[in-house]
Amino acid sequence: MMTPSLPATHPAAADVLRGAGLRVTESRTAVFESLAARPHASADAVFADIEQKLPRTSRQSVYNALSDFTAAGLVRRIEPAGQPMRFELRVDDNHHHLICTGCGAVEDIDCAVGHAPCLTPATTHGYAISTAEVTYWGLCPSCAAEAA
Ligand SMILES: [Zn+2]
Ligand SMILES: [Zn+2]
Repeated sequence: MMTPSLPATHPAAADVLRGAGLRVTESRTAVFESLAARPHASADAVFADIEQKLPRTSRQSVYNALSDFTAAGLVRRIEPAGQPMRFELRVDDNHHHLICTGCGAVEDIDCAVGHAPCLTPATTHGYAISTAEVTYWGLCPSCAAEAA
């Protein structure tokens, strides 16, 4: 399976979709391009973005595209506690996330060791551990300034 590279240099959406065995449609292309421009967007944010350009795109078709992309490994879904799911195209590494508890802003944090699982647990209970997802929580600079 083909995986997209980072958004800044991502190949044409249609090529990526085809490479993943997905039929190329106007709404799928729009969803992919929206995520390339806005990493860590929620489904609603993607829909709001696309609604401007393709007014006849339904919210459901955006949700469907995101779920197809996730199943095809084109998109990574992150589910921060108490927040809407976010989606991103950066799938080919084990990076973590830093999330603002004030405004919900999300930043990428590179994996501390460069590969999964980033953290070694004190005990594995006999499991073959494959990944460790770390979420850092804090206040972004503008929320921190407001709180001060
Ligand atoms: Zn903030
Ligand atoms: Zn990320």
